[in-house]
Amino acid sequence: MIIILVGAPGSGKGTQAKQLSERYGLAHLSTGDIFRGEMAAKTALGEKAAAYVKSGQLVPDNIVTEMVAGRMDPASPKYLLDGFPRNLEQAHSFSKDLASMGLAVDLVVYLSLPEAEVVKRLTSRRVCAKCGEVFNLLSMPPKAPGKCDKCGGAVVQRDDDTQATVTRRLLVFRDLTEPLVAYYRAEGVLRQVDAAGAMDDVTKKVAAVIDGHLAETKKK
Ligand code: AMP
Repeated sequence: MIIILVGAPGSGKGTQAKQLSERYGLAHLSTGDIFRGEMAAKTALGEKAAAYVKSGQLVPDNIVTEMVAGRMDPASPKYLLDGFPRNLEQAHSFSKDLASMGLAVDLVVYLSLPEAEVVKRLTSRRVCAKCGEVFNLLSMPPKAPGKCDKCGGAVVQRDDDTQATVTRRLLVFRDLTEPLVAYYRAEGVLRQVDAAGAMDDVTKKVAAVIDGHLAETKKK
């Protein structure tokens, strides 16, 4: 089963993907997390990606598509992708790569959220520099200011969550990622979920969509 979560930065893709991958036994593949990990470890890939990630631009398609294909195991094709594909080119090459493995995208869930809410969520988002736990100063602040509830690490703002970079990332989303929604809708695999509201409620809505898809597939 190959499921893709699409949504603006801050729509909750990462948080939802963590919950849902566990629930459905899928491997969670987040291209943003991979880049941040490679950057922290100062690998060649991390060095290549750093300038793009920090300025809110997309890393070039060839780097991303190769990286994703290299991390997929055709023998166990159960993936929940978050943050990939991010534009039409990536979607087309991904479909080709999947077809060469005898696979196809099963379901694309679009987490939709008004832009004003996106900006509010992103600029108030904070992450643990050590374990990656995500907080929000407005809705889910750490118990002790600046300190991670889970591991005690420093809670910081991501370089690309500043107001200026958020504006750039939203433009990128509108120009490059939104056309993906139309593409997958035309393919008949897209389902839209309202991502406003509490995290658990959104998880329930996405789970209902996945359950519906599984039930349909069983009938066929
Ligand atoms: P995210 O955590 O998904 O918001 O991704 C953070 C940053 O990583 C993005 O702003 C891009 O610079 C880069 N990135 C993540 N996924 C992709 C992708 N599929 N294509 C290109 N760049 C990506």
